[in-house]
Amino acid sequence: MHIVVIGGGVLGTAHALEAIRRGHSVTQLEREPESRGATVRNFGLVWVSGSTGGELAPALRSRQLWADLAKDVPGIGFRAAGSITLLRTEAELAVAREAAQRPDAAERGFTLVDPEQARALNPALRGEFLGGLHCANDAAVESRIALPAIRKHLHASGRYTFLGGAEARAIHSHSGGVSIRDEHGGRHDGDLVIFCPGAALGGLAREVAGDLPLRRVRLQMMQTAPLGEQLTTAIADGDSLRYYPGFAGPALDELRAAQPQSPVAAEHKMQLLCVQRLHGGLTIGDTHEYDEPFNFDVDEAPYQHLAGTMEELLGRVLPPITRRWAGVYSQCLDPDELVHRSEVAPGVWVIAGPGGRGMTLGPVLGEQTADLLGL
Ligand SMILES: Cc1cc2nc3c(=O)[nH]c(=O)nc-3n(C[C@H](O)[C@H](O)[C@H](O)COP(=O)(O)OP(=O)(O)OC[C@H]3O[C@@H](n4cnc5c(N)ncnc54)[C@H](O)[C@@H]3O)c2cc1C
Repeated sequence: MHIVVIGGGVLGTAHALEAIRRGHSVTQLEREPESRGATVRNFGLVWVSGSTGGELAPALRSRQLWADLAKDVPGIGFRAAGSITLLRTEAELAVAREAAQRPDAAERGFTLVDPEQARALNPALRGEFLGGLHCANDAAVESRIALPAIRKHLHASGRYTFLGGAEARAIHSHSGGVSIRDEHGGRHDGDLVIFCPGAALGGLAREVAGDLPLRRVRLQMMQTAPLGEQLTTAIADGDSLRYYPGFAGPALDELRAAQPQSPVAAEHKMQLLCVQRLHGGLTIGDTHEYDEPFNFDVDEAPYQHLAGTMEELLGRVLPPITRRWAGVYSQCLDPDELVHRSEVAPGVWVIAGPGGRGMTLGPVLGEQTADLLGL
């Protein structure tokens, strides 16, 4: 088949990858010269630790797919570095202990560690904390360079074309397949179209799919100059336990009741996540803003909170912050779905809304769609 993929983020690219793997040919359209959506603004964390129940197997499968892809495409920068969620109060420790004692703890790769063991795993952690939840299964990729690296690999198949700076403006489904018209008047015919618009839910997405059952979420992020030493694992703070279904339970209920978040963290619905980039700088975030219209400028208070927390955990002064940015992802409203997938016209599939786990799940979502469509 010839498949037209619209959207150059991780979802579009993962779908293109899977279609090429299965012997099809692909034209991929991205409205910007290079992807500029959520994918290039994220941490690049392949975050297994927050998943439980029906989410865990897909998260683990996706991690495996990232690891396998790294053998063919080392440029994605995959590292099986794991993570440590650092616990600074007894209530946070109790949530981690509960998670580490659940039947799926081994599958999730959890071990509860004391401060000395945490430092043995990650010697840069010289600050104050009571313990850590080590997740051996968490991993990272380099979001800003991964997509071009994957595309280069796809080009080598001879069955792949990427068109940057080509916004899809119309999709027409007919008896012979689908036709897409781009902003330059170019026409792209195929047997199927897979439209992964990310958080661009207006325009063509609304025209072909109406109001999708998705909400948009805006996050603030930052990056530092090189740390000058290795941060061997990703790190998270205790606030992160509040955001992932994988930590829900009596201990989390108690944490919420007994330990309100700091006013800045509560106002901006924050957690701390941090991963070291290959160039040595730290990517640190994040906040969550749900009410639109979103602020167009970044707010300073969350940055000060994140920098202060990082310095307490590392026990040292952070290198200068060199970049700040915001990103928006779309999130499925149905908590039981990993992503929204619908066939809005014959041969026209819209796939969007993996929320804050789209980088983690991208490869498995591409695989699931290919199975569903019998590619
Ligand atoms: C700050 C931040 C941090 C995050 N951290 C993580 C993380 O560490 N781990 C994790 O698993 N997930 C993370 N996420 C979530 C993850 O980044 C997203 O779920 C994922 O990137 C979504 O991918 P996507 O391809 O659907 O969307 P996007 O990456 O937004 O890509 C959509 C693309 O479609 C293009 N497009 C839209 N309409 C058209 C059109 N008509 N024609 C042509 N092109 C079009 C857009 O220009 C865009 O490039 C984070 C998200 C943010 C914002």
